Amino acid sequence: MTLQVFGLPVSRGVAIGKAVLVASSRVDVAHYFINADQVEDEILRLRDGRDVVANELEMLKRGMPEDAPGELSALLDVHLMLLHDEALTGATKQWIVDRHYNAEWALSAQLEVLARQFDEMEDDYLRERKADVEQVVERLLSALARGASSALVPAPGTTSGDWGGEEPLVLIANDIAPADMLQFKQSVFKGFVTDVGGKTSHTAIVARSMDIPAIVGAREASRLIRQDDWVIIDGDAGVVIVDPSPMVLEEYRFRQRQSELERERLARLRYTPAVTLDGEPVELLANIELPQDGPGAFKAGAMGVGLFRSEFLFMNRNGELPGEDEQFEAYRAAVESMQGLPVTIRTVDIGADKPLERMSINELRHEHTLNPALGLRAIRWSLSEPGMFRMQLRAILRASAHGPVKLLIPMLAHHSEIRQTLDAIARAKQQLRDAGVAYADVEVGAMIEVPAAALLIPLFLRYFDFVSIGTNDLIQYTLAIDRADESVSYLYDPWHPAVLRLVAGTIAQARAAGKGVCVCGEMAGDSSFTSLLLAMGLRSFSMHPSQIASVKQRILRSDASKLKQHLEDIMSSDDPQARYRELMAGGEAARHVLPMI
Ligand code: PEP
Ligand code: MG
Repeated sequence: MTLQVFGLPVSRGVAIGKAVLVASSRVDVAHYFINADQVEDEILRLRDGRDVVANELEMLKRGMPEDAPGELSALLDVHLMLLHDEALTGATKQWIVDRHYNAEWALSAQLEVLARQFDEMEDDYLRERKADVEQVVERLLSALARGASSALVPAPGTTSGDWGGEEPLVLIANDIAPADMLQFKQSVFKGFVTDVGGKTSHTAIVARSMDIPAIVGAREASRLIRQDDWVIIDGDAGVVIVDPSPMVLEEYRFRQRQSELERERLARLRYTPAVTLDGEPVELLANIELPQDGPGAFKAGAMGVGLFRSEFLFMNRNGELPGEDEQFEAYRAAVESMQGLPVTIRTVDIGADKPLERMSINELRHEHTLNPALGLRAIRWSLSEPGMFRMQLRAILRASAHGPVKLLIPMLAHHSEIRQTLDAIARAKQQLRDAGVAYADVEVGAMIEVPAAALLIPLFLRYFDFVSIGTNDLIQYTLAIDRADESVSYLYDPWHPAVLRLVAGTIAQARAAGKGVCVCGEMAGDSSFTSLLLAMGLRSFSMHPSQIASVKQRILRSDASKLKQHLEDIMSSDDPQARYRELMAGGEAARHVLPMI
């Protein structure tokens, strides 16, 4: 029966495919594809894990005191039986063979299938056996984790595997950490749906950077959708249609073709310079997560990288952080991929919804900090690890010898943080000079993403060469809305007058001081804000490469100076969005933006 599940649309387009369920938050494991030639080793790893657990259970049984209740021994027998049951280990092996899942993922996928079967059982006693299966799986996962030195642990960005199946797949999960999302970059999935998450959560941001339809905050999706169900993900409306009728399917296939045609049409703008109708040139830059994203950004017509979120280099590494040389190589690769165009590298923004390390299997993420978004995050983390911070700074500075590099510092709010940061940069430079290592001049910029920074912009302009407005966090912190929490996502409002004032004020003051100012939050890539930001005086936008064409189209059709005349009217309204719409729907302002065809 057709079913509809609603969520927040975070990446546009239509995806149609068979559901791949990543197990719920019950078990937190790595999910990645292995290559065909790794299947046998992965099955061996699973078998070894099973033998280890079987041994453990046998030993527990043997070590049981004489007077232990008989049920205990019977329970261990049940666990041993489950461990050898085809429905668990045999079927798990099949996931590895058929889908090329890593062993942990295969186990959790099979657990999900079995858990549902148990849930549907009439008999209370049998239904409760689900807990036994869960315990056995957890033991198995823990045995696999203990043997985790396996050569199969993937290197970042190389985890797409070679899934040889014919059918398109879409991923359905309770939650996907940004680190896991990264693993799925360049993978086979045609779309994503998660139960949790807000529009500007980092999971949503990475999904958007992959330019495939995605929905977050769909609450019940991973409970309602079953493994291998056919689903349509409507990334424009935020609807997941499960088991669609042939008619609905046909309608969506038609829409899919339409949006492909639209993309092809927009792609023709790649080499057109972004200039407004009144002749104002606008710089369109790319946001990237990994050096491998550089060539795509260049191909999309980006004039440089406005935000390289370097923290993604620090993820999925089994606890080992990248050293200076490894970081340097990554930054150099990004710089070289842009062929002489500037690359803005942001120092790590670890913390909040991008925790550094995967925690152990049964720990929930974020449990260690009460308010991760307000905790040790971004520059606060870097300043608390001065050795690591200087190492990153040296690596970035070294990359500047290979092409134009700018340095960007996230989440600054305090004068003391500014001073410590600039000191650290000076020391890193000194260390390089002492070692006779080359580096070029780099401009240093501050991200404006805390209201305190936006309100104190003259201070920042005194110390920095440029500023970059991170609207994702600026909105989060101005409105006190956790950007990753779908339950308050309806309050996450870029149109809020307080947000607009902070953004407009920052742009105006930076321009007046003759300093560069860019917006690199998600607002920059959303073409519904392009005219407004142009009216505020913004001339540098940084976004996902896939958004460049549609923003450019807007720019080509806008008259910046005339739009500016309406800015005060919009900004002083109690409801700026409604006022903007009124003006655009046939009012005076509409004449300053050519209609979209
Ligand atoms: C922002 O906060 O707007 C930003 C660009 O940084 P991030 O999304 O990585 O927090
Ligand atoms: Mg931010």
